[in-house]
Amino acid sequence: MKEEKFASFTAADQFPEKLAQDYSVIRSIKKYNNIPPVHIQVCPTNKCTRDCSFCSCSEREKGITLPFDKLKKIINTFKSLGTKAITITGGGDPLCYPEINELISFLVEKEIKIGLVTNGDLISRLSIESLSSIVWCRISCSDEVNYNQKWISQVKQAIDKSKNLDWSFSYVLSFNPNYENIKKYVSFANRNKFSHIRIVSDLLHHDAVPDLEDTEEGKKIINNPLVLYQKRKTPVKGTKGCYISLLKPVIDASGNLFPCCGAQYALKKQTRNFSSEMGMGLDIKHIWSNQINFNGSVCEYCYYSDYNNFLSRLLIPLKHKEFI
Ligand code: SF4
Ligand code: SF4
Repeated sequence: MKEEKFASFTAADQFPEKLAQDYSVIRSIKKYNNIPPVHIQVCPTNKCTRDCSFCSCSEREKGITLPFDKLKKIINTFKSLGTKAITITGGGDPLCYPEINELISFLVEKEIKIGLVTNGDLISRLSIESLSSIVWCRISCSDEVNYNQKWISQVKQAIDKSKNLDWSFSYVLSFNPNYENIKKYVSFANRNKFSHIRIVSDLLHHDAVPDLEDTEEGKKIINNPLVLYQKRKTPVKGTKGCYISLLKPVIDASGNLFPCCGAQYALKKQTRNFSSEMGMGLDIKHIWSNQINFNGSVCEYCYYSDYNNFLSRLLIPLKHKEFI
């Protein structure tokens, strides 16, 4: 059961099962040598209501917001290239985006499935129509955000207004885990039938974060059926054949294109921002019609090697294919 949840709700550090089960994408790769941009991650604004110590984008220009007309043009181009799903996410909190409800209804009109990652502070900004259109919403919390009644009752109101939306928490674990805090979130998630609660360690201070499996209290938390404890594996060096850049790229609040959601911390000299060295260029049509993947050999820390290995194997033509 947990394996199913991991495969359904998480991506980094693991074999891309969804891709392996998506016949239309495999067909596009095998028949046309074309990796379509199936899933785009869009950061519509750099603005945020918080200032988390573990923020991987803390050095971004915090006032930038992507003009809605420009964003619509980008989405139209990606739709024409085969995009099926968009995650609205950050650097920044997407609910600070002035046109968040308009963006969601635009995506509905385009028949693009929607995921949302937010810290939940402005969750009351989502209209009932938006809450009925989003497929899943993952609310970020951490040892730095104490479970409090005011914040959680706002979240609860949004849950009560939503229909068929898969809610989840993503909890960032610090070097000093606050077990009582985690337990409150886990209990809320259970009471409100969340799909899962993901616990990840603070990636920027990874080595200082204790392993939950090493303490009795930690083990009890992990054993909760809703908890997905995503221990980060050791990253590997990036690859020239970074094909995930064609499958699920990221657009930042300036409208620039990046190869993966780990682009902020992929380089040896980490900047806590999307670095121009990680940019893919601006000509979306040219990139996909010529299948120009990002050259990830510049990356020191890659968590998507399983994706890149699988995609590169798919691109290899084989003989005697029936003799499985
Ligand atoms: S809520 Fe997210 S985007 Fe905002 S400061 Fe915290 S980690 Fe960064
Ligand atoms: S090679 Fe670099 S850009 Fe590509 S997935 Fe890995 S970290 Fe991201």
